[in-house]
Amino acid sequence: PEGTAQRLIEAADRHTAHNYHPLPVVVASAEGAWMTDVEGRRYLDLLAGYSALNFGHGHPRLITAAKAQLDRLTLTSRAFHHDRFAAFCTELAELCGMEAVLPMNTGAEAVETAVKTARKWGYRVKGVPDGQAKIIVAADNFHGRTTTIISFSTDPEARADYGPYTPGFEIVPYGDLAAMEAAMDRHGDDVVAVLLEPIQGEAGVLVPPPGYLPGVRELTRARNVLFMADEIQSGLGRTGATFACEHEGVVPDVYVLGKALGGGVVPVSAVVSSREVMDVFRPGEHGSTFGGNPLACAVALEVVSMLRSGEFQRRAAELGDHLHAELAKLVDTGRIEAVRGRGLWAGVDVSPDFGTGREVSERLMDRGVLVKDTHGSTIRIAPPLVIDEADLDWGLDQLRSVLES
Ligand code: PLP
Repeated sequence: PEGTAQRLIEAADRHTAHNYHPLPVVVASAEGAWMTDVEGRRYLDLLAGYSALNFGHGHPRLITAAKAQLDRLTLTSRAFHHDRFAAFCTELAELCGMEAVLPMNTGAEAVETAVKTARKWGYRVKGVPDGQAKIIVAADNFHGRTTTIISFSTDPEARADYGPYTPGFEIVPYGDLAAMEAAMDRHGDDVVAVLLEPIQGEAGVLVPPPGYLPGVRELTRARNVLFMADEIQSGLGRTGATFACEHEGVVPDVYVLGKALGGGVVPVSAVVSSREVMDVFRPGEHGSTFGGNPLACAVALEVVSMLRSGEFQRRAAELGDHLHAELAKLVDTGRIEAVRGRGLWAGVDVSPDFGTGREVSERLMDRGVLVKDTHGSTIRIAPPLVIDEADLDWGLDQLRSVLES
């Protein structure tokens, strides 16, 4: 009934930390690209759980895989083997063109794991003196929320009052190859890795200039530095390819994956790399109680199998071209300053004279479309890859109406 949503929002407010500022919608169910709130209103989901829902809500293949596994076995911990683990590691490694998988749960944990991998590799393989390892990262990155990860964030909101911060990171401007090279010169052989988002998601879907990623690949290869691509948000179909790095013909040394790997059903993340890199770990040196659990493996295996067909990547590429063509037309409203992105993924900068990203998101919500703002004036559009073209067009019509009002 009317008023339920408001009541639930107020009740949650009283008993939760206020570390989020959600749009005032209370979702009760969802299917495909559509969500229904507690009062029966329907909304088109143009956020897809920050790309965790690439396959949409309740994809039958994922739900079937999850239910079958729920009835059989959910958790062993890594103290014992279980019968879904080998297939998960083998098939994910194969999808990545790599050899070995280290499973975790959340994206931040996978990034932490990548940082630990690079440091251990630096000390045990490269021969960096103990405690000297440097990892180069980009300004405006978003890699997660742990104390180490926010130590190399440049976002004051993410960082403030969480010190003391973890040392060992060097921050350079994103997309600037000369700055990357200079940082490498400065730290010499102590540099163990470069950690980058191939497209910066939270920063507003920033695509680096052509040639940047191949340039970083060349620099890292020439200097015996690991290139670690955080494809947690950009990977697994979103950009019209399995990995965003593919658009630039780049193969990193390490993929960091999460979000869509769990199909929007369970948290599943992983670091995927070569045997040589992964062999830096010995028993007892890293792990997670839930990492690689049977339920996670069953769902992720289905995700990998769905991606193997290429069908979702193709859809993201085709619908993505359409999305960007339509967004380009919206510039004539005079209310948009810039549109960026690749595949079914776009950052739209709203003119500050018109309003904030939050205001546009709220007005879209009133018209039955859900997006989320980022960094003040940007709205991010990342629909489930299964969205119907007609639904996407309807959503874009709503955006035009908001911008023209
Ligand atoms: N890395 C990137 C590129 C992300 O976009 C995110 C989440 O937005 C993360 C890491 C952190 O993932 P999680 O929220 O699952 O810890």
